[in-house]
Amino acid sequence: MPLTIAIDGPVGAGKSTISDEVAKRLGILHLDTGAMYRAFGLCCMEAGLDLNDEAAVSALCGREEARVDVRYENGAQITLLNGRNVSGLIRTQEVGMAASTVSKYREVRRVMVQRQQEMAKEQPMLLDGRDIGTVVLPNATVKVYLTATPEARAQRRMLQLREKGVNTPFEEILKEVNARDYQDTHREVTPLRQAEDAVLVDSSNLTFDETVQAILSLVEAKQ
Ligand code: C5P
Repeated sequence: MPLTIAIDGPVGAGKSTISDEVAKRLGILHLDTGAMYRAFGLCCMEAGLDLNDEAAVSALCGREEARVDVRYENGAQITLLNGRNVSGLIRTQEVGMAASTVSKYREVRRVMVQRQQEMAKEQPMLLDGRDIGTVVLPNATVKVYLTATPEARAQRRMLQLREKGVNTPFEEILKEVNARDYQDTHREVTPLRQAEDAVLVDSSNLTFDETVQAILSLVEAKQ
């Protein structure tokens, strides 16, 4: 079985950027599974669906026009919706909330998990998401649960947005972080939780490099 690394954790824990760096240092691909749920959430929004209508959302999920694919350009993930590059469009708060809503549905998760498992069978990979260690790759070589306090996560998110010229008050972001945590940990189908054999990495008081190092050390210890 190729090397597989599972990184799960709540919104804003830095999973994407940390995962990118860890994968780069190991010379393997990084699959951001949240981007796949976001692309499908965008698809539902564009189709004008009521996101709370499980039957309608589930019916769209299997259809060709809702096909979510991933390809890599110079090691970077490009997320495609029905062949269209939506990598930029999916990065809004609105699409994030839509992804969080549609990812509650069993059929949506079934389709996405299957795709992710197929990809990880082909080559050594690092996957980040919410259910990688628990469902997608239960036998992953290394499992990490990357987290930080809601305040630390909201603070980072605020600085990221500020860099993009968006000034959102801290309280508003903290509310959004808490709302997403609640939705992700309380859904009926595979709620976000730490796998029993995952190592907890709390990055609240770690720098970016320290967090990357902590994960690389876990990988080294397994090899
Ligand atoms: O990680 P990101 O914030 O981009 O993910 C968007 C949403 O997709 C999450 O809030 C979560 O509800 C959902 N998701 C999921 N399972 C994954 C990855 C993301 O349910 N493996």
